[in-house]
Amino acid sequence: MGKPTGFLEFERKVGINDSINERITHYKEFHNLLPESEQIKQGARCMDCGIPFCQSGILINGMASGCPLNNLIPEFNDLIYKENWDLGLQRLLKTNPFPEFTGRVCPAPCESACTVSINSPAVSIKENERYIIDKAFKDGKIKAVPPKYRNNKKIAVIGSGPSGLASSYLLNKLGYFVDVYEREDRIGGLLMYGIPNMKLDKEVVNRRVDILKNEGINFFTNTDIFKDNQLKENVLKDYDAIVLATGSTKPRDLNVSGRNLKGIEFAIDYLKENTRSLLNKNDKFISCKNKNVLIIGGGDTGTDCVATAMRQGCKSVIQLEITNSLPKERLSNNPWPEWSKTLKVDYGQEECIELFEYDPRRYCTSIKEFIGDEKDSVKSAITIKVEWIKDRDGRTTFKEIPNSEELIDVDIVLLAMGFLGTEEYISNSFNLDLDNRGNIKAAYKEFKTNKDKVFTCGDARRGQSLVVWAIKEGLEAAIAVNRYLDLQE
Ligand code: FAD
Repeated sequence: MGKPTGFLEFERKVGINDSINERITHYKEFHNLLPESEQIKQGARCMDCGIPFCQSGILINGMASGCPLNNLIPEFNDLIYKENWDLGLQRLLKTNPFPEFTGRVCPAPCESACTVSINSPAVSIKENERYIIDKAFKDGKIKAVPPKYRNNKKIAVIGSGPSGLASSYLLNKLGYFVDVYEREDRIGGLLMYGIPNMKLDKEVVNRRVDILKNEGINFFTNTDIFKDNQLKENVLKDYDAIVLATGSTKPRDLNVSGRNLKGIEFAIDYLKENTRSLLNKNDKFISCKNKNVLIIGGGDTGTDCVATAMRQGCKSVIQLEITNSLPKERLSNNPWPEWSKTLKVDYGQEECIELFEYDPRRYCTSIKEFIGDEKDSVKSAITIKVEWIKDRDGRTTFKEIPNSEELIDVDIVLLAMGFLGTEEYISNSFNLDLDNRGNIKAAYKEFKTNKDKVFTCGDARRGQSLVVWAIKEGLEAAIAVNRYLDLQE
């Protein structure tokens, strides 16, 4: 610990965001980092406490507490304070190959588990992480380091999201020849086509992919091995192991009257096409300009839709959430160092509150029906309030509240209600067993599916999760593949 009294002397500070009026005019990142002299003090706030839960990544009450990647957080905090940037970078990269992604988009379970956060604002761990890696890129310290030694084994990784990239990264470092097959036209999975540019600039993704290419990984885009029998057979024959990092890509649908009307879209399609049109510089996207937008789903995807609709110039936006609103403060049954289940005002809602003067979120609200116009386009929605009750078996379930219907005008509806696992054409093609949530079945740490030499990781295995978990699973799956191939010899 560089400065024993740091947490007493310095207050938490994070970089400022560009003003809302300015940032909604574009899709660029809007969060600025602190000046270096201030960031150093933030490193000094770490107490290097005896038991650093921030880096533990353990499950408490079914929720991850601390960093799933086991980042060496007290160490890099200390090295920031001591301005030992090179060693700080080394410590950071020891556990996390892509801190520029997590430093931007991670919800930071580490900060919920920070000891300082017991009675004052947590150490700004996420921002410290981002400062180290952004500075390293700026100073030209991040370079391709191809492996010195290659074995003669080949691995195919299917899918290029964070789990596929992490797996490829480590397998390549271990000396395997790695080919990545991606069905989209660009590499990155949801880092590219999911999380919007303002949270993660696509140049940040491309920059990392270029490094991986220079380290020797081959990437094939627009290639779906499950849609080409010959290619699939070749892949099965030619590679020593296959890692399926295909994500959880089946969006949850809404089974209500009027669902088939025009103007009701899956949020992921909306976000994907918006990003693609920005990258391709064309206007092939679903526009919310001057429209009343209804978003169904209160999670990250819903928030990204709010922010995108605001940038497109929507007339109004409402975000429905079927669950209760979270409390503002931790409840007694959610103590430190558990993940803090508290209400957050994320960037999309912040923008709506400032510009439209209301929080777009409506809790305990569901959809009854959509109503169309003479052209079969959605023109209104009937919402209904619900209450959450315990059933006879003690399970929490919801019940509609009679006469609580409301008719609202809508021109476009975006369904952001989560994902239901792997697409059938993938699992059927390899005869893969699925778990009871529709994800590819494979035990954690083993990552091996029921099919010979086929492994899986990330959202494809654990269901829709977080970038930090995808990276963790990708690395762990690479270790499992390496162990498996070692045993084959
Ligand atoms: P993915 O990122 O989904 O990548 C899977 C890849 O496999 C895709 O590129 C897909 O095209 C490809 N693929 C699928 N099938 C095939 C096939 N047959 N052949 C070839 N390629 C195939 N997490 C956070 O931590 N922070 C956030 O802010 C955040 N925001 C999110 C916003 C949105 C809109 C969404 C949907 C998710 C968000 N998440 C966020 C979750 C996070 O993005 C995912 O948990 C993570 O990307 C999962 O990584 P993955 O590599 O397992 O899968």
